[in-house]
Amino acid sequence: MKELPLDRIATADRKGNRIYLYPVSVKGYYRKLRSQLGLILIVIFLAMPWLRIGGHQAILLDVPRRRFAILGLTFWAHDAPLLVFVFGGLLILLGLVTAIWGRVWCGWACPQTVFVDRVFRKIEEWIEGDSLTRKKLDLSPWSFQKVLKKSEKWFAFTLCALVISHSFLAYFVGTDTLALMIRRAPLENPASFLVMAGVTAALLFDFGWFREQFCTLLCPYGRFQSVLMDDESQVVAYDLKRGEPRRGLAQSSENAGDCVNCYRCVQVCPTGIDIRRGVQLECIACTACMGACDDVMARMDKPLGLIRYGTQATTEGTEADVKSGVRAVAGAGRRNAWPMRPRPLLSLGLLLACVAGLTLTVLKRVPVELTLIRAVDAPYQVVSGLNGEAEVINHFKMDLRNQTFFQQSLSFAVTSELEAKGVRLVVSNHLPSLPAGESERADLFVRFPKSLLSSGHSRIFIQIRSDPLVFPEKTHTLHQEVILVGPFL
Ligand code: SF4
Ligand code: SF4
Repeated sequence: MKELPLDRIATADRKGNRIYLYPVSVKGYYRKLRSQLGLILIVIFLAMPWLRIGGHQAILLDVPRRRFAILGLTFWAHDAPLLVFVFGGLLILLGLVTAIWGRVWCGWACPQTVFVDRVFRKIEEWIEGDSLTRKKLDLSPWSFQKVLKKSEKWFAFTLCALVISHSFLAYFVGTDTLALMIRRAPLENPASFLVMAGVTAALLFDFGWFREQFCTLLCPYGRFQSVLMDDESQVVAYDLKRGEPRRGLAQSSENAGDCVNCYRCVQVCPTGIDIRRGVQLECIACTACMGACDDVMARMDKPLGLIRYGTQATTEGTEADVKSGVRAVAGAGRRNAWPMRPRPLLSLGLLLACVAGLTLTVLKRVPVELTLIRAVDAPYQVVSGLNGEAEVINHFKMDLRNQTFFQQSLSFAVTSELEAKGVRLVVSNHLPSLPAGESERADLFVRFPKSLLSSGHSRIFIQIRSDPLVFPEKTHTLHQEVILVGPFL
């Protein structure tokens, strides 16, 4: 294998045309772990829309109806602060993880890597064979055999893309709506059908053909990873001190490093780079080169870990490392992994602030939120009561908002003690129920005997009870303080 070009990316020729890669499959400890994690993530992705927590879909991002459910928490569009905490927290978490473990997200959990590695490459291998066979097939002229293999492969790809796109859609429309849509003709739901067809086509294009180009050319995360990482972040790195001078460049066998220049690490790389050139933007930390190189080292009876997880400081070598003789042991680069550095500490602080903000906001959240203000007309009205005693009426404006996904039936009351003292509530356009996510305005009139004020009851609490009809056990009572006013005498 030839040295990769220095003046362009490995997947483009001089004219800018794509060089299609045929990465060799590899085994190894980390590859096995990644495969197992990949399977778990795929199962979670497919199963999550079908899980119910607190009566809601575990994750629902219903954008058209502006309602969101995330692991039992329900949000509406007006809950922007909550969403800021949730999505801001996730972004900061990603930044923190990157600062400590580099692009671990890309290599271990990104849907692009997981689906390409665990599903699409596997299908390709089953149908078309190993890397060399695939390359030969692509270079061979069209024949019945080639058409058959390509048709089988793209048919299998399409089935997988359809499963993924339907699951993807379930996160946005909900599983009930999705099941309904599947049973109906596409023309009955043209918008959703087009979205689903578009997502399927995009997945086929990306997972089936575009692949590493997405990571190296389009993914924004890959672009700003250098801002998030520092010299102490854990990355997949080649141990320069141990490997160099590599075979072919060493003056004599005594001063030769451990790298035998076999290019095995390049052949297995899904983005086609040579990790021996240091940390590169194209590296998605998939660990394939680690497994490949460990295999070579094992055969040569040398210590594993020439390519390993390590910090740039330990693998490229600082003066201190050279003096202390850090060398050639798998995991030698694990020092300073804990985030006692400014960047991770800052991310950790921001993350904790987000979690605290989210917890406080959720704890303060009630099923039906009430804003109550005194009406701007006369502060009070004196009327004659049934038994001839003067009564006072206070007028308030209420704004009620149902923050749940269920219709809530509402009732207004005062304590039995106040009721015995003659306090009564009248609610205009009486709200028997409030639909999910809706707001309603209403007038509240508090009628009470004039003598109540002189007996020291100018502050009372009214109770607003909300009952979600589908979950009677989730009844909630809100106690709202009301200040009563009236004539002094
Ligand atoms: S696989 Fe290891 S020995 Fe072979 S070229 Fe890569 S770093 Fe050198
Ligand atoms: S350099 Fe290694 S870890 Fe990075 S993408 Fe290539 S094979 Fe994966």
